[in-house]
Amino acid sequence: MAKTYDAIVVGARVAGSPTAMLLARKGYDVLLVDRATFPSDTISTHLVHPPGVAALKRWGLLDRVLATGCPAIDTYAFDFGPFTLSGAPGAEKTTVAYGPRRTVLDKLLVDAAAEASVEVREGFSVESIVFEGDRVTGVRGHGKGGATVTERARVVIGADGRHSLVAHAVNPAQYDEKPPLLAGYYAYWSGLPMEGRFETYVRPSRGMAAWPTNDGLTVVIAGWPYAEFEANKTDIEGNFLKAYELAPSFAQRMRAGTRETRFVGTAVPNYLRKPFGRGWALVGDAGYNKDFITAQGIHDAFRDAELCVAALDETFCGLRAFDDAMSRYQTSRDQQVLPMYEFTTELATLEPPPPELQQLLAAMPGNQDAMDGFARVNAGVTSPSEFFSPQNVERIMSQAGAVTAVH
Ligand SMILES: Cc1cc2nc3c(=O)[nH]c(=O)nc-3n(C[C@H](O)[C@H](O)[C@H](O)COP(=O)(O)OP(=O)(O)OC[C@H]3O[C@@H](n4cnc5c(N)ncnc54)[C@H](O)[C@@H]3O)c2cc1C
Repeated sequence: MAKTYDAIVVGARVAGSPTAMLLARKGYDVLLVDRATFPSDTISTHLVHPPGVAALKRWGLLDRVLATGCPAIDTYAFDFGPFTLSGAPGAEKTTVAYGPRRTVLDKLLVDAAAEASVEVREGFSVESIVFEGDRVTGVRGHGKGGATVTERARVVIGADGRHSLVAHAVNPAQYDEKPPLLAGYYAYWSGLPMEGRFETYVRPSRGMAAWPTNDGLTVVIAGWPYAEFEANKTDIEGNFLKAYELAPSFAQRMRAGTRETRFVGTAVPNYLRKPFGRGWALVGDAGYNKDFITAQGIHDAFRDAELCVAALDETFCGLRAFDDAMSRYQTSRDQQVLPMYEFTTELATLEPPPPELQQLLAAMPGNQDAMDGFARVNAGVTSPSEFFSPQNVERIMSQAGAVTAVH
């Protein structure tokens, strides 16, 4: 009899490796495959907000990130031109963010999966998904230069990113779709110290950000509306530097440093997908993707891993039917991400904020509580629905009124 794994996970980066690791830690028999080998890079910057840092800590992996010398980020500064809002992004227990290179983070996660007794096959490309009737029962694929093999499992988990082959095969319902809104490019600089700060610059039709990463480097990213994607491709460096001219003091700091890499970038669509069906599940970008302007993808992938594994564990143990457990996974994911999804896709238009939001932002300088709150929204710690609730907005506006009255 051919072997049947409990789960096959396709894709071994920030969604797939933790999913496989957490399943294996619960005693399940897991095969994790990726056509990439590790360490390797992917097109993505890598700000990991405090909720992602908290997940790494829960899994016992944060010390490994720290051991790579990746500096902590304790301040988020949002420069709107006339004023800057500077706040602390963290929650009580996890006060800082980190920006580990994907070469570092993804390798560390794959290794942790292997240590948890996951069978890891790097350099293994899945060619197709195996069905019995309408039920997914396995994958067909090959290692580098090898023959095609078939592997079977009780569930096949697509952690295979935006161009997910698993999602393509199972054709899940897709909802709340929005087209690509922004095109972003990034490169790494040396000699550009950030002193533990994530800095972002908001300008008309332009958004920029920078933060420190491994090896004394700083990642610097600039974005423009998707409508300019094609036209600006002819001179990415010129358009990138021109964007930073709108933030002259940062541009000066950049000029004092050295660009060490070429520019890399892209634009991405926005969608949610039903993340389960007979014999399959989706985690990470395969199931939910959004513009990278708020840098939520990594901790969203971590959250999916935990929610999906908890749901699968319940079904494998016979505590809940598959559909019941997995629809709880979907509901919980959607409840947690939808307000941030709306906030992210609004920001990604790079259009001026509506007047009420402009008034609120302008009321915050000098109000440390409000600025910390705003930093925590961007960090995915506080839901936008909570921060922008009428009561909180009123509180911030009245505090600003009180300050104005005193002066
Ligand atoms: C420009 C940009 C900047 C970003 N910046 C940030 C940021 O600062 N912070 C943040 O949190 N998020 C950021 N994101 C989002 C983040 O990159 C994604 O949310 C995250 O990478 C999703 O992880 P994943 O594991 O779901 O998919 P991926 O990282 O895309 O991994 C999918 C894996 O599946 C493998 N795979 C695919 N198909 C197959 C197949 N057929 N067979 C075998 N293997 C396969 C691939 O080789 C790949 O390794 C950014 C994204 C972009 C595009």
